[in-house]
Amino acid sequence: MKLKKRSRLKKGHYSIPESTEKEHGKICKYWNQRYNLFSKYDQGIKMDEEGWYSVTPEEIAIKQAQRCHGKVIIDCFSGVGGNTIQFAKVCSSVVAIDIDPVKVEYAMNNAMVYGVANRIDFVVGDFIQLAPSLKGDVLFLSPPWGGPMYSKVESYKMDMLKPRDGYSLFKIAQSITPNIIMFLPRNVDLAQVEELAWLSSPPLTLEIEESCVGGRVKAITAYFS
Ligand code: ADP
Repeated sequence: MKLKKRSRLKKGHYSIPESTEKEHGKICKYWNQRYNLFSKYDQGIKMDEEGWYSVTPEEIAIKQAQRCHGKVIIDCFSGVGGNTIQFAKVCSSVVAIDIDPVKVEYAMNNAMVYGVANRIDFVVGDFIQLAPSLKGDVLFLSPPWGGPMYSKVESYKMDMLKPRDGYSLFKIAQSITPNIIMFLPRNVDLAQVEELAWLSSPPLTLEIEESCVGGRVKAITAYFS
């Protein structure tokens, strides 16, 4: 079984790094879902290890993008580009920001695979620092959840988000636009998500969607406006 998994991995654009068997097992789980992450995976998609954990499954990214038709969107933690690519298909323009230059390089490559790279402005930078200079109709926040361990807690709290707690991130986002989409763990404390809407002045409308792949809830998307 172990050999079979390794030989399959060699066919792709990502090879599992030499680490513990436990870690191999974890990445194999994501590898098996690679076409859920990128349907064009075999056409040259590039990922790094973190990308496997944090990329938004394509089915979910398509649905989130449908809400942003024709808008100028800022994807603040764009990673290897799962959301960015789907936004580029339907939005008037996309700014994709990530602090990690390797992620941005992979996102550019992946956007080329999908034929949408010319519709995206890629920025290597810290969203927190760039925020005062950003302008857009909609802000998409898919901040780090703290790695795969997020699912181990019963109730995921806003202060577990990185690089700032959810309340601070939301406040920064609001200084750019009230139209904010947050992509959050499925075990997030929904009372805290609602709090973000009614703590705002004036209060924002909020729609919460269960984001599913193959009918299974993978995450929560909160649409504020
Ligand atoms: P997760 O914990 O959900 O796996 P990651 O740690 O992979 O999330 O982070 C998601 C993405 O956010 C990564 O591509 C990472 O480089 C990026 N990122 C982290 N901090 C910042 C920041 N301050 N500004 C922009 N991008 C950031």
